[in-house]
Amino acid sequence: MSAITSVSGFPRIGRDRELKKTIEAHWKGAATLDDVRATAKALRERHWKLQQAAGIDLIPSNDFSLYDQMLDTAILLNAVPVRYQRLAFAEPEETLFAMARGYQGDKGDVTALPMKKWFTTNYHYLVPEIDAAADIRLNGTKPFDEYQEAKALGIETKPVLIGPYTFLKLARDPEAQELAYDKGLVNAVAAVYAEVLRRFAALGAAWVQLDEPYLVLDKEPGDVQLFKSLYSKILSARATEAGTVKVLLNTYFGHIGDVYETVALLGFDGIGLDLVEGREGNLAALSEHGVPAGTTVFAGVVGGRNIWRNDYAASLGLVDAVRQVAGSVAVSTACSLLHVPFSTEGEDGLEPEVVRHFAFAVEKLGELTDIAALADATEDEKKVSAALKANHALFDGTRVAADPAVAARLAALTDADFTRQPARAERQRLQREALGLPLLPTTTIGSFPQTREVRAERAKLRKGEIGQAEYDAFIKAQIDECIKHQERIGLDVLVHGEFERNDMVEYFGQNLNGFLFTRNAWVQSYGTRCVKPPIVWGDVSRAKPITVAWSSYAQSRTDHVMKGMLTGPVTILNWSWPREDVSHEVQTQQLALAIRDEVLDLEQAGIRVIQIDEAALREKLPLRKSDWHSKYLDWAIPAFRLVHSAVKPTTQIHTHMCYSEFNDIICDIDAMDADVISFEASRGDLVVLDAIHDADFETEAGPGVYDIHSPRIPSEAEIEARIDEILAKMDPAKVWINPDCGLKTRGPAETWPSLEHMVAAAKAVRARL
Ligand code: GLN
Ligand code: ZN
Repeated sequence: MSAITSVSGFPRIGRDRELKKTIEAHWKGAATLDDVRATAKALRERHWKLQQAAGIDLIPSNDFSLYDQMLDTAILLNAVPVRYQRLAFAEPEETLFAMARGYQGDKGDVTALPMKKWFTTNYHYLVPEIDAAADIRLNGTKPFDEYQEAKALGIETKPVLIGPYTFLKLARDPEAQELAYDKGLVNAVAAVYAEVLRRFAALGAAWVQLDEPYLVLDKEPGDVQLFKSLYSKILSARATEAGTVKVLLNTYFGHIGDVYETVALLGFDGIGLDLVEGREGNLAALSEHGVPAGTTVFAGVVGGRNIWRNDYAASLGLVDAVRQVAGSVAVSTACSLLHVPFSTEGEDGLEPEVVRHFAFAVEKLGELTDIAALADATEDEKKVSAALKANHALFDGTRVAADPAVAARLAALTDADFTRQPARAERQRLQREALGLPLLPTTTIGSFPQTREVRAERAKLRKGEIGQAEYDAFIKAQIDECIKHQERIGLDVLVHGEFERNDMVEYFGQNLNGFLFTRNAWVQSYGTRCVKPPIVWGDVSRAKPITVAWSSYAQSRTDHVMKGMLTGPVTILNWSWPREDVSHEVQTQQLALAIRDEVLDLEQAGIRVIQIDEAALREKLPLRKSDWHSKYLDWAIPAFRLVHSAVKPTTQIHTHMCYSEFNDIICDIDAMDADVISFEASRGDLVVLDAIHDADFETEAGPGVYDIHSPRIPSEAEIEARIDEILAKMDPAKVWINPDCGLKTRGPAETWPSLEHMVAAAKAVRARL
């Protein structure tokens, strides 16, 4: 008998994003709730059957969600704030959608719950809100219904829930602060999970999986105690008169070395360990503390965060290592497959030779069963295994030829290439003279509204309905109009508007060597939104100038300073599928050199201010603080410097970030050595301004003065007050005035008045200084 196989979770959006389409149709009134339910049910059935056909032993249920599994958990625990209950929807799904996206209509007017990134993924969860009045109790029957739905199809599943520890750590109070866990709350939450286990025991489920990814983070005082007190209560509910259910404690995105001993002592039936992202820490913990008899280790060897084929030799080695200490081992995904695309089937735009290197969710199922079978095969059986042979061939051969020119460029880099001269204070003085900008200069983040007209024109070009010349003329007209508007309202540093770009990463990827694009490799980002990241296939270099023609055209149309607009190397890599055969550090350096070429060409073409966006820099900050520098910042920050270090002192380098939570890495942000940074700051609290103050932050900064994520038009007075708040904390000589982020998702009707108010507010404050 071979080792059992287990899947932590499966994508739910559907091969052709059916779930997205039905739900969005429902929101527009073009589909009923019953249509949504029917699609959801059909998808669950299809996904379970796929896993069954692949031979998976422990197939997940309740991993399905209409919007987000964290939101489902909050609802299951009855953590539904009163303002949503008051809407009094007859259908529970409508309450769920109101919590997810807000609601404005005849039943009331409520904003959505806040949304945050799920650990280091590009998936976003809704932040549960628990107030003092919360009545935590089991609410609804979703997990049981889905378990029985599968059972009715003849499929025994392993129900999956987000565990109580992760839930409580991620939930917030109504002021968005961490919860104060009183005994009552902890007991109430534990009681719900205990009740869930009892019900599943009664229903005959063999296993329940409780996901506790928060366990891979650094522990704060009291965390281990909280974990222990939750689970000692919950685990005693496993055995009932009606039956016994086994509990799998599933962890992922890192290692649990610092709590493994406690976890092992609690007596879980299964412990799920991520042996991809948490390999060293988890293996060390296993060998140091062993595995209790009766506990199955779920060895997460098939990664759920990348699209590449599994290296069977490496995975078999890991399974063997676990077997040295564990009596029972299951072969598992390292995390949910939610974070990878559905299937490589239909990717016929790519060569079969290329596609065979990819394993999306469906292909990863086959990998699990292959590895499980091989883990128990004799040496003779392995010798004749076609699966193993094919896999060896994939990894033994050269997947892609190295580009010697790229390697030579990297090898020739010296410290000087990562250091811009002269020092920033001197540059800032020179730039002030050269650019002749007023105090509190006004600018925008780059994009202007991408109207339906713009997108339609791009679609026409793609379909061949118009030629390149016609498209270019259209974009030029857009740029002309955008410049005229900006001049009219009196902005100081102009932008061309980014009308030519579909997406800030894809647009660059399409002009770089080494990138591939799929047709249908969508991954859920939040709710019904999906992203389709490009794939880094080979060594990266710039194929040809990317933005130079547009930026120089724009500069030729105005006497104002025209800002060039680029995406930075860290963000391009973080929003792509990186290679696994080359380190992230090297891939980022390759990208940095490619963008550096573009920076120098822009400068050559007369562009005096260049913005290099690093919207995703913080996203991949390692989960444990001790890894921040050694595993990430120590190469990510220098890579950014490599992009701009060769420009003239008078060329002003800007960067932009879509968040303000960088007070804890403020010195690293300063070490990027940009001249100016703009960032989102109108919604978050402004602790970052204190950090800027306390750190003697050298980079000039434009904390966003209004929220572009909302259609609201801020008044001049409101923005003026905002600027005053900023000036209370910052040296006026270092302050820029700009919105939060790019304006591409807004309409012209909101954008122009908002910017007009912004410029007027800046002028009013300037007059007072
Ligand atoms: N320059 C980009 C824009 O304005 C920045 C996008 C972003 O910050 N995500 O759209
Ligand atoms: Zn932004």
